[in-house]
Amino acid sequence: MAGIYVHLPFCPYICPYCDFAKWPYRRTQARRYLRALLQEVAAAPAVRGSTLFLGGGTPNTLPVEDVVAVLSAARARFAIADGAEISVEVNPDAGSFAGFAQYVAAGATRFSVGVQSFDEGELRTLGRRHSPRDVATCVAAARSAGARSVNVDLIFAVPGQTQASWRRTLESALALGVDHVSCYGLTVEEGTPYAQWQRREPSAFLDDAAEAQLYAAAIECLEHAGFEHYEISNFARPGHRCTHNWNYWQNGEYLGLGVGAASYLAGERSVATKSLEAYCGAIEAGEPAPRERERLSPEAAVGEAIMLLLRTAEGLEVGPFNHRYGVDIVQSYRPAISRLEAAGLIETSDRRIALTPRGRFLANDVCAEFLTVPARAEDRP
Ligand code: SF4
Repeated sequence: MAGIYVHLPFCPYICPYCDFAKWPYRRTQARRYLRALLQEVAAAPAVRGSTLFLGGGTPNTLPVEDVVAVLSAARARFAIADGAEISVEVNPDAGSFAGFAQYVAAGATRFSVGVQSFDEGELRTLGRRHSPRDVATCVAAARSAGARSVNVDLIFAVPGQTQASWRRTLESALALGVDHVSCYGLTVEEGTPYAQWQRREPSAFLDDAAEAQLYAAAIECLEHAGFEHYEISNFARPGHRCTHNWNYWQNGEYLGLGVGAASYLAGERSVATKSLEAYCGAIEAGEPAPRERERLSPEAAVGEAIMLLLRTAEGLEVGPFNHRYGVDIVQSYRPAISRLEAAGLIETSDRRIALTPRGRFLANDVCAEFLTVPARAEDRP
C-alpha cells in the first residue's frame, strides 16, 4: 500500500513567501495540465493506494468538475477503498466553496484549509486576500458538505506577529471547531519576494527566541484544548491524525503525480520536473514526465528513517526499528545519542528514542546529527 499524492499547481494569486510548484490560474494552461495529469494517472504504476491527497497550489481554484475528475480517476486507478482518508487542500478565498459537496460525493473525507492567520494585518503581510470571515464560511462549507475532518494550516513568526496576535489566531481556529491544526514556522526561501525583503530589512523578521516562544504558545494552547501534539508541526483531536502524512513519517511508500511531485517506491526516491512545460510536453509526446531519481545508500536510508520517526510524538521504537532496518541503532549512533541527550534534545529508554520539547523546536539540528553520523569514521562502533 502507498499514499497517493496528486499535485494541482494553480492558485488565484501567488503569495510572496511561497516556493511550491505553482502558477497563477489560466484557463487554457490549466486545461492542458489536467489532460496531462489524467494521462499520467492512467499510465501510473499499479500500486494500491491507502490514502489520497490532492494538494497544491489551490485545488479549489479549478472548476469543480476537474477536481472531481481527478478524484475519480485516482481512486479508480489506485483502488482506494470507500471511506479511506481522501484530503483536498482548499483556500478560503470567497466564492470558491461551491463544489465542496461534490468533492465529498467523489470520496473526499478531509479538507485542509490554507488559513495562515486570523489577523487581517498578518494576512496582508503574507499577501493573502481572504479575510477571517471567509475562513469561517469555508470551514462551515466543508462541514455542511459532510467532511469527516477539517484541518487549518497556520503560520507563526510572520513579520509583525506578536504573542497576543498569535494566541488570537489559535483561539479563532479553535472557535471554529476544527479537528486538526498544522502550525509551521515561516521559512524564507531563496528566490521568493520574501527573501529580497529579508535582505533589505532583516529586522522585520523574528529571531529564533521569539519564534520559539510562539511555538511554545501553540503547544500550550492546543494541548490545553485537547489536541494531541502528534508530530512536530501537527496537532489533532483524538481520532483525527492525518493518515496520509503519518505514512510519510513512518517512512512508508508514496506515489506523487503531477508537476514537481515526489515519490518513494521500492527504495527509490524521485521528483518530477518542476517545469510545467516539460511536464505537459513529455506526457503529450507519450513519454513519462521527466524525474530526478535517487537511490539512498543503506546508511543514508537509516538516517532518513530516524529523522522521520523522530518527528512523531511516539518517536522511534528501538526493537522494531532495528528489525526493519537490520541495524543496532543505539550501538551505531551511540556518540550522537549521547551528545543529543546531554544537550537535552532527545530522551531515550531501552525501548524508545524521542525528541524532548526543546528538541522538537531544534529538530533540524537533531536530524543533522543522524544524517551525517554514519559517514564519520570516529563515530563508528
Ligand atoms: S495559495 Fe498556497 S500554493 Fe498558492 S501561492 Fe499561496 S502559499 Fe503558494
